[in-house]
Amino acid sequence: MAQGQKVDFGFGCMRLPVLQADQPDSFDYDKIGQLFDAFLAKGFTYFDTAYTYHGYHGEEAMRKALVERHPRQNFQLATKMPLRDFKDAEDLESIFNEQLAHCGVEYFDYYLLHNMGTNVYAKCKKYDAFGFVAQKKAEGKIRQVGMSFHDMPELLDEILCEYGGMLDFIQLQINYMDWEQPNVQSRRCLEIARKYGKSVTVMEPCKGGTLVNLPPEAEALLRETRPLASNASWALRFAASQEGVTRVLSGMNSMEQLEDNTNTFLRFEPITPEEQETIVRVKEIIEKNTPIPCTGCAYCTHGCPKDIAIPQYFALYNNISRTTGSFSSQNVYYNNISLKHGKASDCIGCGQCEKACPQHLPIRQYLQDVAKKFETGAAFPTRK
Ligand code: SF4
Ligand code: SF4
Repeated sequence: MAQGQKVDFGFGCMRLPVLQADQPDSFDYDKIGQLFDAFLAKGFTYFDTAYTYHGYHGEEAMRKALVERHPRQNFQLATKMPLRDFKDAEDLESIFNEQLAHCGVEYFDYYLLHNMGTNVYAKCKKYDAFGFVAQKKAEGKIRQVGMSFHDMPELLDEILCEYGGMLDFIQLQINYMDWEQPNVQSRRCLEIARKYGKSVTVMEPCKGGTLVNLPPEAEALLRETRPLASNASWALRFAASQEGVTRVLSGMNSMEQLEDNTNTFLRFEPITPEEQETIVRVKEIIEKNTPIPCTGCAYCTHGCPKDIAIPQYFALYNNISRTTGSFSSQNVYYNNISLKHGKASDCIGCGQCEKACPQHLPIRQYLQDVAKKFETGAAFPTRK
């Protein structure tokens, strides 16, 4: 990317502030309103939500915190068709109309086919989901059509070859951990989007917070190179520095994060070759410290017959891997969460979660590791 090129920054609304961590729809509207207002006041306008976010309540939050509080022309709203949930062509229509009502808008500025991958592509072809969004665009109910993609570059090539003409943009997971990661392959996907001349919006630039909460050794390396720059700013700059990227999304939960993220884009500096070398070393340290590369998106939990708290357990597992000693507070968290949800060992191996995981993680295998770590005598100490 050339020096000075403008990359837009969008507010990702997958993880908005809530009042109770285990209730995804307990929105903290005061806080969300303040964050949205501050974002707009800084000159940014793009908000990204989806039908499925916050336990299927995310779009309502956008209506209350954004649409009902700001003139329509002052913001751009993006939402997504849940490709896993729609059953047939009629369903596409009814879900789309529901979304307009949830959001309280007449049209969407950006509308995406959500989480495109092998598991839903055949269904999209069968029920002509691409034709459906093209029709809505022709009716003026969608301004720009896109898809968020979480699969292999070969499939992206196939889809763009067949339906690229109907898509204005592609949303890709791009961050420095996944750049060459075999399950994601950010770099190759971006190259394919470029081959078809599609502009790219980046999702998960901080990999669900993994690139914000770094192991101390990795953080020290970043500080050595740029003493005042936050960990998040490195991740955002990496994503925004790639050729073909026109927008980067990031979720923000505090005013401090919002200030830091927006300043990164207002005074944008592309990653230099020396910084790129630092990033390679940081990545190696993170890999050593993060056994399960889960982003915490929670797509896997919907439909789990045992209601297993998969992302929470994986986060605890990653945290405990960074601690030493026989006991950790992660055990206490595990015990508390498993009182309300299925335990890792309750998994019946149905595989439903793995079909939904955008990172293509072997969730069942990882749950066995989690169970070994947290459900042994050492993790569940009993009174003697
Ligand atoms: S494989 Fe296990 S964790 Fe996954 S959906 Fe089935 S029961 Fe739940
Ligand atoms: S296991 Fe996969 S689907 Fe589940 S939260 Fe992690 S990344 Fe998301």
